[in-house]
Amino acid sequence: MITKKSSKTIAPDVVLIGAGIMSATLGVLLKKLNPAITIAIFERLDRVTAESSDPWNNAGTGHSAFCELNYTPQLEDGTVDTKKAIKIAESFEVSKEFWAYLVENDIIDSPDAFIHNIPHLSFVWGHDNVEYLKKRYDGLTKHHLFHGMEYTEDKSEINSWIPLVMEGRDPDIKVAATKMDLGTDVNFGTLTKFMFEYLEKQEGVALYLNHEVDDFDKKKDGSWVIEVKDRATRKTSKVQTKFVFIGAGGGSLPLLEKSNIPEGKGFGGFPVSGQWLVCNNQEIIEKHQAKVYGKASVGSPPMSVPHLDTRMIDGKKALLFGPYAGFSTKFLKNGSFLDLPLSIKLDNIRPMLAAGIHNIPLTKYLIDQVRQSPQDRLEALKDYLPEAKLEDWDLEMAGQRVQVIKKDKKVGGVLEFGTEMVTAADGSLAALLGASPGASTAVSIMLELIQKCFKEAKSDEWQAEFKKIIPSFGESLSKNAELAAKTRARTTEILELGASHYSEEFTA
Ligand SMILES: Cc1cc2nc3c(=O)[nH]c(=O)nc-3n(C[C@H](O)[C@H](O)[C@H](O)COP(=O)(O)OP(=O)(O)OC[C@H]3O[C@@H](n4cnc5c(N)ncnc54)[C@H](O)[C@@H]3O)c2cc1C
Repeated sequence: MITKKSSKTIAPDVVLIGAGIMSATLGVLLKKLNPAITIAIFERLDRVTAESSDPWNNAGTGHSAFCELNYTPQLEDGTVDTKKAIKIAESFEVSKEFWAYLVENDIIDSPDAFIHNIPHLSFVWGHDNVEYLKKRYDGLTKHHLFHGMEYTEDKSEINSWIPLVMEGRDPDIKVAATKMDLGTDVNFGTLTKFMFEYLEKQEGVALYLNHEVDDFDKKKDGSWVIEVKDRATRKTSKVQTKFVFIGAGGGSLPLLEKSNIPEGKGFGGFPVSGQWLVCNNQEIIEKHQAKVYGKASVGSPPMSVPHLDTRMIDGKKALLFGPYAGFSTKFLKNGSFLDLPLSIKLDNIRPMLAAGIHNIPLTKYLIDQVRQSPQDRLEALKDYLPEAKLEDWDLEMAGQRVQVIKKDKKVGGVLEFGTEMVTAADGSLAALLGASPGASTAVSIMLELIQKCFKEAKSDEWQAEFKKIIPSFGESLSKNAELAAKTRARTTEILELGASHYSEEFTA
C-alpha cells in the first residue's frame, strides 16, 4: 500500500485520478461539503495542470456560447437552434459563481490572476453566413442571458471593434459580426493551480505527482483497490477507496475500460490534436482586443474552427490563432502512440467502426490538416487577418482532445463532440470523457457528479453548503431572468469583470 511521510497506509475516502481542472474542482467542492473527507490525488506527470488545463494547451475561452457558432446549429428548416447555447451560457454563470466563492474565501487572492474581460465576437463573410448570423443573433437575444449582444453588418463599425480583421479585406464581400462585451478569457491552468494549492494545505488531502494509475479492482464490499505506479521508482502500490473519479482527461477512456463497469462498455475515443499560431509581434498583439470565432468549413470538426484570440497568460497579453486540427493516435499530449490501438476492445470495435464510416469527411479533413504547409496555415489565418505575414507567427502544439464514440441503436456508433459523464450504478466510480465545452463548465459537471454519486448530497447540511458555494443552486438561471441578472451583477463585481475594468486594462 502507498504510504505518506508519516508511513501510514493510505485508504482515502476519495481518489481523484489526474490533476487537471476537473479533479481540482471536485476536490475543492468535496472538501468544502465535508471538511473531514480524506482525498488522494494521483497525477502521472511531475506537475499539476500539465495537459489540457494548461493555458497554452487550450484556448482559454470562457465558453458562454456568446461567439462559438458550433453551439447554435442551423436546422434543416433554416432556423437556428439556441438550446445548447443557453445551457452552456447558464453553466458558465454557475462556474463564475464558484470562482467568485473561491475569491471571497481567499482560495484565490485576485481574480486578475485568472480571468479577464475580452469581448467575444462572431465574424462571418458571404451572404449565407451573414443570414445565419443575423438569425442566430435574433434567436439568442430573445433570451436574457444574451442581452447586451450587438449585431452589425456595417464595415466601419466592425472596423472599430476588430481593426486588424478588417484591414486589407475585400470591400465587395458582405460581412457581419456580433459582439458581447461580457466575454471572458480564463487561464484555467492558474485557476487549477490555486485549487490544488488550497487542497494540499488541507488536513486529509495528499497529492502524488509522478504517480500513474494502472489498474482497478472492485471488492465485494463495494470499495475499489487501485494500482498506482510511482514513475520515478517504478514501484507499484495499492490504494483502497470508497469512491474513484477518473479525471484523467484524454487518459480517462483507457482507465474506464480497466474499471470494467458495465456502464463504461461500448465507449471509444477519437483523438484530435491541435496546433496554434502564436503571434511574436508585440505591435500586432496590442492592436487586437477580442476573441473572434468564425464558421466551420464543411466537414471540419466543430470544436476545431480556428479562432483569433486575445489571451492573458501569466500577466502578459498574447495573440493566438487556431487550433488547426490534426490527427495523432495519442490520447494525451504526453501520451503514447499506442493509446488509440490499445483502446480498441471487443465491446467498442463496432461503434468505433460505425463512427469511422459515418465520419469520412472528418477523417479526410483531419488528414488534409496534418498535411498543411506553412503557406496553407497562413491562408487560413488570412481569412481572419488579411494582412498577416508568416514571420510574425510561430507554430506551437496545442492540447490533445479525445472525442467520445458512443454506441447507437440505429447506426451502430456515433462520434460526439461534447462531454460525457459515466457513473457506476452504485455511485462508487465516475469518469469524464470528451472535452467540449470543457473547463468552462467544470463546475456544473462536478455538481451533477456529486449529486449522482454521493448520497449525502441530499442531506440538509450538504444542501445548505451547496447554497453557500453556489447561491443560485437549486434554481435555474436560464429560466429566472431576475436571478440571472442579480447573479451576473454579483460575480461581475467579485471577479472584477466590469466593462470599465476591461477598457482601463487594455486601452492603457
Ligand atoms: C486545443 C484545445 C482547446 C480548448 N479550448 C478550451 C476553451 O477555450 N475553453 C474551455 O473551457 N475548454 C477548452 N478546452 C477543453 C479543456 O481544456 C478541457 O476540457 C479541460 O482542461 C479538461 O480538464 P481535465 O481535468 O478533465 O483534464 P486535463 O487537464 O487533461 O487533466 C488530466 C490529467 O490526468 C493525468 N492523467 C492521465 N492519465 C493518468 C493516469 N493513468 N494516472 C494519473 N494521472 C493521469 C494527465 O497527465 C493530466 O494531468 C480545450 C481543449 C483543447 C485540447
